[in-house]
Amino acid sequence: MKIYKAAIIGLGPSGLAVNKIIYGNNVDEIIAFENKDINNRDNFFGFWLADWMKPFEHIIEKKWFKWTIGNKKIKITHTSRDKPYCVISFKKWKKFCLETKNKLKIKNKKVLKYTPLQNYFKIVTTDNNEYYAEKIYDSRSTKEKKGELLQHFFGINITVPDNTFNDNKLTLMHFTKEKNLLHFMYILPFSHNKALVESTVFSKEVFKNSWYREKIKDYLKIKNINTYKESSVEQGVIPMFFADEKNSPSLNIFNIGIRGGACKPSTGYAFSFLIKQVQLLKNSKKNYVNIHKFLERKMDKIFISFLKNNNEDGQSFIKLASNLNGNEFQSFMMGESSILTKLKIIKSMPKLQFIKELFR
Ligand SMILES: Cc1cc2nc3c(=O)[nH]c(=O)nc-3n(C[C@H](O)[C@H](O)[C@H](O)COP(=O)(O)OP(=O)(O)OC[C@H]3O[C@@H](n4cnc5c(N)ncnc54)[C@H](O)[C@@H]3O)c2cc1C
Repeated sequence: MKIYKAAIIGLGPSGLAVNKIIYGNNVDEIIAFENKDINNRDNFFGFWLADWMKPFEHIIEKKWFKWTIGNKKIKITHTSRDKPYCVISFKKWKKFCLETKNKLKIKNKKVLKYTPLQNYFKIVTTDNNEYYAEKIYDSRSTKEKKGELLQHFFGINITVPDNTFNDNKLTLMHFTKEKNLLHFMYILPFSHNKALVESTVFSKEVFKNSWYREKIKDYLKIKNINTYKESSVEQGVIPMFFADEKNSPSLNIFNIGIRGGACKPSTGYAFSFLIKQVQLLKNSKKNYVNIHKFLERKMDKIFISFLKNNNEDGQSFIKLASNLNGNEFQSFMMGESSILTKLKIIKSMPKLQFIKELFR
């Protein structure tokens, strides 16, 4: 009977990060289970270049030192010279994380359950096979939960006529006017004629693809882009609630990625945080690390509760952006804001509603 050093459940960004960051430099035998074909997966993960992301600078697709937040009437431009907004593609992350010294066996199977046996675990897959490992890194997560907000989106990578886009500046959030719905466009201009154009909604239910497609078409029309060639699409659902599983009962079970609480629910950003989580786990004797600080988790919860109970159309985000400079904004988004910046953020929020949410 073979007992692997560790079993990774799910080869999304966090499972891949475990292979690279924790086991990449030794000769351990690791087994990973993934029930989908990850060769078909590709999308861009955005983040600001915090210090812990610098070891991955060489696989960054593109950096933007300027970004905008606004709507039809107002546009706030932020600049950061040393902490630009960056993206890494899933394909590059996967390739980078699979180039390691360790021996990784990948099983294209769905894990049904795992149970502890003496000092290792028995893992059962849906085809009734059994595998054994000393440690478990579990990244399975619940993306939707009744009554909770979701961030759901659909984006198209397009090619347009030359010199259409200014590729020095990305559109982080362009809010559009909708009836009782928070919707914004996210545009990553990779070059003067190539961009990812994404339609994003915060709501309790996910829409049909045709809904987002219509919004993308409308936005491009306003920008006088009437013809474009599609090269690929990306879509997803990100939970806007903290994961239930975060901590695990056994010291040798590690909940990672969104399952392990890496996502910042108010923004849907998870990629850089799940990497930080795996980096911290590597040097920790515990099986759980708190990625988001207490005060930030509290602020997130209040903000989400505010979003749930009020018809927000983007004004709070715009006001927040207008009260912060680029460096303050990125520090907040990356969970590294100072007390002064936090106070500025609290000051930007609608007072009465927030006091109500605080006591809800
Ligand atoms: C299209 C898209 C774009 C995003 N963009 C950004 C961004 O720009 N910036 C950012 O910070 N975050 C972004 N996110 C959010 C977040 O970074 C991602 O959701 C990320 O994929 C989370 O990684 P994970 O490893 O926690 O989970 P997942 O990526 O969900 O990986 C879990 C894996 O486990 C597999 N699995 C599930 N159950 C089983 C089972 N029983 N047996 C075997 N395998 C199983 C799944 O197939 C999956 O591959 C984006 C998300 C999506 C979907």
